[in-house]
Formats: sequence, C-alpha cells, structure tokens
Amino acid sequence: MELIDTHCHLTFEQLAWEIDEVVERSVAAGVAGWITVGTDPEHNLKAVELAGRFDNMFAGVGIHPHDARDVTAETMVKLKELARNEKVVAIGETGLDFHYDFSPRQDQRRVFEAQLEIARQMNLPVIIHSREAFDETIDILEQFIGLKGTLKGVVFHCFGGSEHQARIVLDHGFYISFTGVVTFKNAEKARQAAKIVPADRLMLETDGPYMSPAPMRKQKINEPALMVHTARFLAGLKEMDENDFARAVTATSKSFFGLP
Ligand SMILES: [Zn+2]
Ligand SMILES: [Zn+2]
Repeated sequence: MELIDTHCHLTFEQLAWEIDEVVERSVAAGVAGWITVGTDPEHNLKAVELAGRFDNMFAGVGIHPHDARDVTAETMVKLKELARNEKVVAIGETGLDFHYDFSPRQDQRRVFEAQLEIARQMNLPVIIHSREAFDETIDILEQFIGLKGTLKGVVFHCFGGSEHQARIVLDHGFYISFTGVVTFKNAEKARQAAKIVPADRLMLETDGPYMSPAPMRKQKINEPALMVHTARFLAGLKEMDENDFARAVTATSKSFFGLP
C-alpha cells in the first residue's frame, strides 16, 4: 500500500517532539506522504517549516473556527503571504464548529469567508472543518461560489455526516475525507455515508494526534502510520481489494492537492 495522510497535525507537541521517528514509522507502514495542517498563525508557520524538511510533506495553512475570535485583517494578510510558499497545497483547516462554539458564530463565518476568498485568489483547494454546522457550511460555500465563481477544490475533512449529507457534498462536486472515526463502533452513520462515496472523491486522513482508529484505539496518540487500519477497514466496507483501494484514493489525493 502506498498512502497519503491528507490531514494531520505534525506540528502539535504530541507528534512534533519525535517527528523523525513518526515519519519513519509512517513510511515503514506504507504511508509515505503527508499534509500537515495548520490551525492558527503559530502552527501555520511551523507547518510550512516542517514541510520544508521532508520531500513528501506538504502544508495546509488556515485558521480553525475555534481560533476565529482573534483574527484581524492583518492575520489574513499574513496567511495569504504564507500561502505563497511552494510547500503550501491548501487553505485550511477552516469552517464552522457549532459543537464547541469556542468562537462566536459571527467570527467563525467571517473568518471562513475570508479564507475562501484567499483560496480563490491563490487557486488553492480548501480543507473544511464542519461540525454540527452542515447546512450553514453548504450555504456559505454555495453563496461564495455563486458570487465569486468556482473554487479549485473543496474537501469536507473528518466526515461524520449522514449518507444524505454525503450525497449533498458529492452533488456539489466536493470531496470527502474520512478519519479513523469511521472504524468506531458507534459510527454506523459515517459508514453508511462512506459506502456511497466513490474512490475518486474519497480521501483518507488520521487527523493525528487525535483519535486512533480501531483496533489501535488504546494508542492515545494517533499518528500517520496508523492510517493503514482505516484504509483496510474502508476497503473492506466498500468490498474492494486493499491495494486497488489504496491506489485509487492516493490518486484522488494527488490530483486534488496537486501533489507530485
Ligand atoms: Zn478539523
Ligand atoms: Zn484537523
């Protein structure tokens, strides 16, 4: 299997302190490409620096909805500057999180829209974080595209929605990415959704250091190497050969993010 972890947080302390070993274990397991995703100005900078150290590592830069409250116009100017770096392959993660509501919803909307505009100007795909805010996320994307024209690409990361919601995402021409959560006992809804997502619209991620997939849930710190379990699980769910499935989702990831 040759896989790409399209969404992990390798700059977070849990993984950053032993990054060389994390990368080594990942390559040994068959996960030989990574997109390390920033969530705030500090981690965006770190993500770009880290990606510069490894051939097959790339960065997403964005402001997580949790951090939207502190964002100024200046933050956005800096984000756009950073997005020019050759290792940056996406804007994100950005979106809406009405589960935690760590930032006021008005700020979340404002900062999400501002990042869509940067993605459009820079012709970069967008990594969407949407939690308990599905309809409003789709509304904002629809309005933005209606007003400003198409985006290079849109992926709903850590998808936990229903089959119906997956259909809506696909009908808009967007992509869906699954974490190890899809392997959890209580994730029947996400599994129903995964069944209808074709491999050419599906990507895989760990979202490490969070939420190790079954059967590794006891491993407190999730890391890219563990993504092989999610890949095997989804191949089984979709009744596909493991290697065919891996090849297909890797091709999808490369074309979506424009990776070499
Ligand atoms: Zn997220
Ligand atoms: Zn994330």
